[in-house]
Amino acid sequence: MTDTPFHSGFAALVGRPNVGKSTLLNQLLGEKVVITSDKPQTTRNRIQGILTTDNSQIVFVDTPGIHVARSRINRLMVESALGAVRDVDVVLFLVEADAEPHREENALLEVLAKATAPVLLVINKIDRVPKETLLARMAAYGTAHPFREIVPVSALSGDGVEHLARVVSEYLPEGPPYFPDDQLTDVPERFIVAEMVREQVFRLTRDEIPYSVAVTVDSFSERPGQDLVAISATIHVERDSQKGVIIGQRGAMLKKIGSNARRQIETFLNSRVFLELFVKVSRGWSESPGKLREFGYE
Ligand code: GDP
Ligand code: MG
Repeated sequence: MTDTPFHSGFAALVGRPNVGKSTLLNQLLGEKVVITSDKPQTTRNRIQGILTTDNSQIVFVDTPGIHVARSRINRLMVESALGAVRDVDVVLFLVEADAEPHREENALLEVLAKATAPVLLVINKIDRVPKETLLARMAAYGTAHPFREIVPVSALSGDGVEHLARVVSEYLPEGPPYFPDDQLTDVPERFIVAEMVREQVFRLTRDEIPYSVAVTVDSFSERPGQDLVAISATIHVERDSQKGVIIGQRGAMLKKIGSNARRQIETFLNSRVFLELFVKVSRGWSESPGKLREFGYE
């Protein structure tokens, strides 16, 4: 037992695509609730991961990076990042130790300058650079913006991540937790399942399929007493050629996507899973407000 007051609140995780936001959340929460991939922009929705300790609860908001709005969906992502910065108690600005500040990072810094919440700089991927490079990077960022803290981490190895959680909780107001302490995320299971399927599409089709892939979970039924969840999902693409790539030679690619995703979903749901996948051409979905809503990108 301790007399330390409880702190709780919201932390926005912002940074350009690929800096390691999803990896950091997974490391903080110790369970796979957000998707990671070596392709940028795989996180299109805000996902809240919740970290509850003895004396704090941090509700993390994972935002897509700010980048040039080329299409309607990109503009939505920028709006969501800006919105996230507005409603939080603390902002974590994530950058990479092994890269010079990027054009998008400078744009993001301008947005953060308007934030009323304290901004902490998190320098990720320190496993990739020698100490001198890290120190030089910390000094350079320190002159670019008056960060309240600069915290180096490796989201991949976990180095510095526990320390980061402690630092973040110190910036949250005193107050009771927002969510029950066993809750990792307020994102429905269906959405996480859809993201796991989408992650496998990205991983396995590499550069052949662009970001115009959405996954909907059409049915999700638990069979009580049977330890089996039956899931049926549809992969939506923009063109017939993409449908061909995803299905593959005699269905081989779709089978691989399905079996990889099923294994992940089984771990996540802690149950056996029967996963049925369909592929559908939904022309122009990423430009259609109606379709975007239907696929969960509001
Ligand atoms: P996001 O787009 O910001 O969510 O980035 P992801 O979490 O998807 O990570 C992008 C890539 O960077 C993935 O290949 C990760 O494995 C890799 N990555 C993330 N954190 C680290 C780290 O601390 N060290 C190294 N070496 N790689 C990392
Ligand atoms: Mg991500």
